[in-house]
Amino acid sequence: MPRLEVPERLLLGPGPSPVSERVRQAMAQPLLGHMDPAFLAIVDRVQEQLRLVFGTSNPLTFPVSGTGSAGMEMSLVTLIEPGDVVVVVQQGVFGQRLADAAARLGAEVVPIAIPFGGICSIKTLTETLDQHPQVRLVAVVKAETSTGVLQPLDGWAEVVHDRGALLLVDTVTALGGLPVHADAMGFDVSFSGTQKCLAAPPGLAPMTVGTRALERIQAREHQAPSWYFDLSAISQYLGKSRAYHHTAPISMIYALAEALNMILDEGLENVWTRHRQVAESLWAGLEAMGLEMMVPREHRLPTVATVRIPDGVDDKRVRQRLLDQYQIEIAGGLGPWAGKILRIGVMGQGAKISHMMTLLNALREVLHAEGFAVPSGLTALEETYQKAGQR
Ligand SMILES: *Cc1c(COP(=O)(O)O)cnc(C)c1O
Repeated sequence: MPRLEVPERLLLGPGPSPVSERVRQAMAQPLLGHMDPAFLAIVDRVQEQLRLVFGTSNPLTFPVSGTGSAGMEMSLVTLIEPGDVVVVVQQGVFGQRLADAAARLGAEVVPIAIPFGGICSIKTLTETLDQHPQVRLVAVVKAETSTGVLQPLDGWAEVVHDRGALLLVDTVTALGGLPVHADAMGFDVSFSGTQKCLAAPPGLAPMTVGTRALERIQAREHQAPSWYFDLSAISQYLGKSRAYHHTAPISMIYALAEALNMILDEGLENVWTRHRQVAESLWAGLEAMGLEMMVPREHRLPTVATVRIPDGVDDKRVRQRLLDQYQIEIAGGLGPWAGKILRIGVMGQGAKISHMMTLLNALREVLHAEGFAVPSGLTALEETYQKAGQR
């Protein structure tokens, strides 16, 4: 049989993001057993490094086996008991996913429906919680990949904890790309994914669990209704006893370990700054091309740009041409924004000004080919980037 051949792509969609040679080579290292002390030392180190990127001292900080959604599943399965009132902020597809998953566990879900592109204010949160004093859990997405909105969470933990509830935060498109500060922000549980800003392949869901959440778990009336996602069992493998639960995805852990090495080598703050500066430059470039951003600047997510497709331009054809002619992947809209927007990821190793230049050039050519001539965005992009560097 011929060997597997994979085309080269520039991944500038909302995940997966490009993976460096260094991380890919880490994955090609020889396999170790999941009980080998050499492997366990790598796991310990990954846990330590994950604490740094989450901004937490929670001992229970580790990668769940599975993609970001596995982190969601484990969080909900662990925290929810049937009949629990769970308030879920739904300002996009991933908020809706949280609500769907919570309802399947028998939670009484109270949705806070926010129109696409909007944020949930702390006033709306407070009013909802006042109407539902039995609330046990509040779940929210910090960086909504489907809309390109960055949800502010200042003061949320206090409001939630005052009512005896826990705060669960999806940081999938945030972790490694922008400040998370899980402890300072009072997150009780947070989960993420490796293929967005952490710049590793998909397959692990970094997760952190705080003291309040651990108390809740210990007070559960019944075991969590999932064998695989049983946090108590997994914490034994991570703890002193090292009891076998399931085989760790060894090569994926190598990848995450090396991706975290790269982030911490560059410096966490430098990595956040790079994401923000490249994002702001991209926005300037897109706007100079006459394209309209979907989200007002103050709530715009640096890691995913959402931009309106000009009238009469077919989004699928634009994306197909970008892929076929330029080997660039970006994404279209979801839900009410399907067919109306493009989504551009500024994540991990994709968050580089050279990649954004390549994309804007290609996008201009493709729009032209679709009969929609736009000016170049390159000067605006470069000027913004230079100014950002002087700040
Ligand atoms: C990508 C994403 C997820 C789901 O992660 P998977 O790795 O696809 O399972 C969840 N939440 C947000 C905000 C995401 O962007």
